[in-house]
Amino acid sequence: MAPMTPHRNMFWQIEPVWIFYLLATLATGLLLAGLFAYLQVWKKTAKSTEASYSGDALKKMILDVFMGRRVLQGDVAAGVMHLFIFWGFLILFIGTSVLAIHHYLFSFLEGMAYLAFSMIMELAGLMLLAGILWALIRRYLQRVPRLERRLEDAIVPLWLLLIVLSGFVLEGSRLSAQQPAWAAWSFVGWWVSGLFSPGTAEVLYPSLWWLHTLLCLSFIAAIPYTKLFHILGAPASIYFQGASEAKILGMEEGAGEFDLGDAIFFDGCMRCGRCVTSCPSAGAGEPFAPRDFIQAMRHALWQEHFLLGDIRFMSRNEPTKGNESFWYCTTCRACLEVCPVYGAAFEVVTKKRVLAVEEGTLVPTLLSQTLEKLFKYNNPWESSKRKRGAWADELELTDLTKKGEEADLCYFVGCTTSFDDTAQVIARSFSEILQIADVNFGILGKKEPCCGDIARRVGELGLFEEQKDGCEELFDKYDITEVVTSSPHCFHAFKNEYPEASFRARHYTQVLQELLANGKLPFTKKVGATVTYHDPCYLGRHNRIFDEPREIIRAIPGVKLVEMAHHRADSLCCGGGGGRMWQDLQGEIKMSEVRIREAEATGAEILVTACPLCLIMLEDARKAAGLKEPFRVMDLNELVLQALEGN
Ligand code: SF4
Ligand code: SF4
Repeated sequence: MAPMTPHRNMFWQIEPVWIFYLLATLATGLLLAGLFAYLQVWKKTAKSTEASYSGDALKKMILDVFMGRRVLQGDVAAGVMHLFIFWGFLILFIGTSVLAIHHYLFSFLEGMAYLAFSMIMELAGLMLLAGILWALIRRYLQRVPRLERRLEDAIVPLWLLLIVLSGFVLEGSRLSAQQPAWAAWSFVGWWVSGLFSPGTAEVLYPSLWWLHTLLCLSFIAAIPYTKLFHILGAPASIYFQGASEAKILGMEEGAGEFDLGDAIFFDGCMRCGRCVTSCPSAGAGEPFAPRDFIQAMRHALWQEHFLLGDIRFMSRNEPTKGNESFWYCTTCRACLEVCPVYGAAFEVVTKKRVLAVEEGTLVPTLLSQTLEKLFKYNNPWESSKRKRGAWADELELTDLTKKGEEADLCYFVGCTTSFDDTAQVIARSFSEILQIADVNFGILGKKEPCCGDIARRVGELGLFEEQKDGCEELFDKYDITEVVTSSPHCFHAFKNEYPEASFRARHYTQVLQELLANGKLPFTKKVGATVTYHDPCYLGRHNRIFDEPREIIRAIPGVKLVEMAHHRADSLCCGGGGGRMWQDLQGEIKMSEVRIREAEATGAEILVTACPLCLIMLEDARKAAGLKEPFRVMDLNELVLQALEGN
């Protein structure tokens, strides 16, 4: 090669090169041994779930990993920082591989190709440097609350920082010693070269080379043993969560055990804390945080499935928080909305509850009593089945369980709406609306069973199966094919957890929206109020019904809809879901009180919701917060009925 042709001499002044090969082999061996450990743990959990190819999951993974789609969502600063680190690291990694190909396979990096290569590597180095500094500033100067400050949280970025800085210094010393005519193309190294005299640079160069090489090789070796594993684990989790079919926990053996999807999620979790920020339980100062819980589960899984225990040595002896606090989770799904690796902490929580119920351990007393009531009386509220249809005594409604009675639509009232004084308003007003709209509907009266939602949420799968069978038998017996529910919880169970259902289930907001679209809601009265809407978790986040209730509210004459700071998928849980209504769990503040204050801050006079549990929780919170008229908490049916007055 002509001396003036831009190029680079590999292993310039490095002796003996075999030591490099020895160290590289050692680092690769450690990397592979660590990866093998992951495969072993994953293999042991892969009993019931198999990974399969999915083009959609692959596309999702590519968008999330390479474009940073998920990390940009909701936290642009964090997303851009992560993209800087990701792309900087990736380009440098590819560049190093290109150099290896050039050296060992065929030479092509010379002339313009080498100059372009040099410049790209400089830019990538700067990008990585900016990303690392930004990450350190966020964690240690800005002290972003969701970020932890454990030992490895400092060591990993500092390690990477040293690699980048030593890389630039190494390059500077080489350029200073060699003085090539094309040095300016490596503009950072060229600037650094001014710090050395050519003689000093030549002396220092070998030591700097070994230092940089050792930092790089040890970094590669450390990937499986630190949180760096998310480089591989996060894409694996994103792909797997997208490729595996949604499972319905059933009575099969080992239903409460972790599977391959759980193991990959645990290992892909990089402790970013987004789930903690969005978790209403953590936000209310309760002793539960999804990140800590997931890390505790990961640790336990490794202890169980790997001979040497957890290989993440830096977090090995840290206390495993959150192991027994899973009853606090409301199963609101807020964590899944923000998790970069699509981890559903609440599904892991349900598995832990299944095991707790099976073993009869760690089940709160109040919850045990509720389960007993559910078992004996088919409802969680009353030690009697008789009062179930009492709310309808004054109304002339069709009872579908009576001989000869038929209807197009079965209104499944649900336990809470049937028994609770506050929630009964939903049943009365919805029935009246259906009558005004001339809908041919009926109820199941005293024979209406529990849908099984509570049993399922708290992990009592046997009882859930029993209640599911009871509902299906009843619907079959009375030829019921169209069901509308008061509660998003019954709706969710029917729609998503009755795989063999021979009926269509809808929530009342969907039926109201259909009536509105068909001109069956003849609004006559101007309500004249500013209203804000609380999205119930099992209607909004779990079933993506965000628009229907809003459409109805906007159609009511004289109503102005204003949104709370948290709305739609970002809505705050009222604290009543996941079986928490029947437990006495305390935090620093109540979730429902946080929510009612947010509603009040909008300036709205009416807080509307569409779930009996939310209605009860928010009404209690209104009273506790001392919020008086004109501020009211209402069910959507009440508001609609007001505007239908006179029909
Ligand atoms: S579970 Fe998801 S959101 Fe929570 S810390 Fe882990 S990666 Fe982040
Ligand atoms: S489902 Fe809700 S309460 Fe449970 S961990 Fe996730 S965010 Fe927290």
